[in-house]
Amino acid sequence: MEKVIIIGSGPAGFTAAIYAARAEMNPLIIAGQQLGGQVALSSEIENYPGFPELISGMELYQLMQKQAERFGTRIEFDEVTDVDLSSHPFTVKTWGEEYQTQTLIVATGTSPRKLGVAGEEELRGRGVSYCATCDGYFYKGKTVIVAGGGDAAVEEAMFLTKFAERVYLVHRRDRLRAETYMQTRLFNNEKIEVVWDSAVTEILGEERVTGARLRNVKTQEESELNVDGVFVYIGDIPNSQFLAGQLELDQRGYIVTDRRAHASVEGVFAAGDVQESHLRQIATAVGSGARAAFEAERFIAGLEGRTYGEWKGK
Ligand code: NAP
Repeated sequence: MEKVIIIGSGPAGFTAAIYAARAEMNPLIIAGQQLGGQVALSSEIENYPGFPELISGMELYQLMQKQAERFGTRIEFDEVTDVDLSSHPFTVKTWGEEYQTQTLIVATGTSPRKLGVAGEEELRGRGVSYCATCDGYFYKGKTVIVAGGGDAAVEEAMFLTKFAERVYLVHRRDRLRAETYMQTRLFNNEKIEVVWDSAVTEILGEERVTGARLRNVKTQEESELNVDGVFVYIGDIPNSQFLAGQLELDQRGYIVTDRRAHASVEGVFAAGDVQESHLRQIATAVGSGARAAFEAERFIAGLEGRTYGEWKGK
């Protein structure tokens, strides 16, 4: 029987683990497909306090992992396939194991949203990418598209200019969503050209990406760009599908929590991007991770000497 299982290994999950481990709850993290979560895919992080110089997402999550492990966190490199929250203790199933746990912290984050256009799936890994940090190096002297207009698209477009000769930022509106400071840097970067009011409608290529078809959403005019890569940064989708019918989710799939990280089933908590639809930052993720672990500890203290049923009936 586990005291606490934390699903997810991003900043929220690692922070929850650091707090839970220091509270002697002997936490178990089930890391999921992407150790470090979305942060592992971020090239450069400038706005997380304590790192006045740049830190890469990979370096940052590795430091968090080290800190969590130092206090005794166990990490399973497995993926949760199913949970049963209808009775206590809760059941958590992975590909390889089945666990019972007194509390659960869901910190599964988000996954990149897809464009959903022809060629995207077929050319994934052969010119279509969702991770500039991982793949940017392969575009030395080449031309790429970055699709999107938020912080991620702008940040990664700038990162890609370290390698690519030319970067087209293709955005569906005539204004960017990214923060102003980032926009100024983008507009001052001579390697970047913003293609306004445009959608990528098809990604072209046989063996590898050779181009993309665009449509101007105002004039409906179609055009083609010859490019070697298409990086997609058009937002995220919360990783909560496996909880459907078990926990309350909002219309977009984010886990509904109260201000203390409690989800709709007592003893289940959520932290990080999977419950944060407004300000998805590392700073907000670590805050909610700490809160979730603190509340899980209080929940177990409340159970002490009682069954879940007795506790609920109190
Ligand atoms: P986001 O803020 O949701 O922006 C998504 C962008 O993609 C928007 O510009 C949106 O257009 C566009 N888009 C959405 N669906 C599209 C579609 N089907 N086709 C074409 N374009 C589409 O997502 P994000 O940039 O990935 O950022 C996610 C969160 O992480 C945000 O909260 C962000 O602030 C945070 N983040 C912060 C930093 C930082 O602080 N440095 C860095 C990265 C991410 P519209 O503008 O027209 O809606």
